[in-house]
Amino acid sequence: MGVPFLPALAAAAALASGPAAVRVRLDGQIREALMETYVEWVLAGEMGGVAEREALRAFAITARTWARTNRRRHQAEGFDFCQTTHCQRLAPAGVTARIREAVEDTAGITLWHRGRNADVFHSADCGGHTASAGEIWPGMARPYLPSKEDPWCARAGNLSWRAEIGWRQLEEAAGLRGIRHLRVTARSGSGRVLRLESNRGPMDAEQFHLRVGRMLGWNLLHSRLYSVEAGPDGALFQGKGSGHGTGLCQKGAVEMAKSGANDLEILAFYFPGTKPGVSAQGLLWRQHRGGSVDIWTIGPGPPVSEPSADAAWREARRRSGLDAPCRPRVREYPDAALFRDAAGAGAHFAAVTRGCTVHVQNPQRLAAQGELAQVLLHEMIHVLIGANRRAPLPEWFEEGLAEYFAGGSRRAAERSRVEALIRRYGRQSVLRFLQSGLPE
Ligand SMILES: [Zn+2]
Ligand SMILES: [Zn+2]
Repeated sequence: MGVPFLPALAAAAALASGPAAVRVRLDGQIREALMETYVEWVLAGEMGGVAEREALRAFAITARTWARTNRRRHQAEGFDFCQTTHCQRLAPAGVTARIREAVEDTAGITLWHRGRNADVFHSADCGGHTASAGEIWPGMARPYLPSKEDPWCARAGNLSWRAEIGWRQLEEAAGLRGIRHLRVTARSGSGRVLRLESNRGPMDAEQFHLRVGRMLGWNLLHSRLYSVEAGPDGALFQGKGSGHGTGLCQKGAVEMAKSGANDLEILAFYFPGTKPGVSAQGLLWRQHRGGSVDIWTIGPGPPVSEPSADAAWREARRRSGLDAPCRPRVREYPDAALFRDAAGAGAHFAAVTRGCTVHVQNPQRLAAQGELAQVLLHEMIHVLIGANRRAPLPEWFEEGLAEYFAGGSRRAAERSRVEALIRRYGRQSVLRFLQSGLPE
């Protein structure tokens, strides 16, 4: 997937390396995934049916920020994240090209507040008024998680729901024998129920909500934005919205995108006062359109890979005879920490390729050492290999093939294995292994 630094560089770069992968429990199995892959799974799980690009981008930044601040949530069980709404819903099989694009467009961008990643939340439908974090979870109050009116989801039409729950069921769910009356006694600033009172005494609404959810199912009380009417047989709950209502409202974000807002405007509405960026300084990607390759840079300097990236792309296609139906991108990372966090690769790699994007660590240094053209050529061949691969292939084969065409020597062992295959089968047959897989 990438070229390692030469040994002398590797030692220096290793200082900045760290775990780039997250551990996820999926259908009972613990799997490792790159952070960016995890974000794709979340988008598929939470926003699968959404077509609006800017809403998907805003959600990708939110989901990535949440993942950064909530890692090791399940540490005691040996992984980082579960696949349910307890963490973020995951649907690896539902990842589409549109989702991959939204994640790639926002590569490594998270929300920041005063030098730290912000604590972010999202819910399906805030019911027309978001909840402050403090009113839902005392102790979680944050200036950028306020209670505010949300005209966007209201315009799209909030979910309105009703649930009739019999006294018998409530006795069991709330653990209150003889409950025959229920009323709301306190509401938060956004109108959410804080406290209830029954003939058995006062109750905390959050506790009540969790008990009913766990005992009777989460499809009864969709939110805490409701009214209660006590009848002879039970209580009638009538409410609006779905979820806790704090942070980004998914329905509202989609509506904002429909009306022309971009990802950063959506985030500024739901998380006012936070700063999006690949680092706490709020640095964002800048796109530089090249002849056949786009270069994305962080910070004010000009791109370093221009014009070598165009030349590498041309040369990679010429040498391999392969082509790809995409316009390649090069993302330049000025330092190892950003490369690790945003590209999600170990800092001992000079570059990695995912899809049609080549992530390059510290291209200034590579250029100064005369290595940049060679690294870009190797990675552009990976773009071509990835676009033409139809069968699972071992890593050594892809690396060896890339080094063979690039004429490089960093992966000498892999390259000589591929050269042995070429002597035996011929070049065209070895290229066909991309479709058929390796022979036994
Ligand atoms: Zn969880
Ligand atoms: Zn809303």
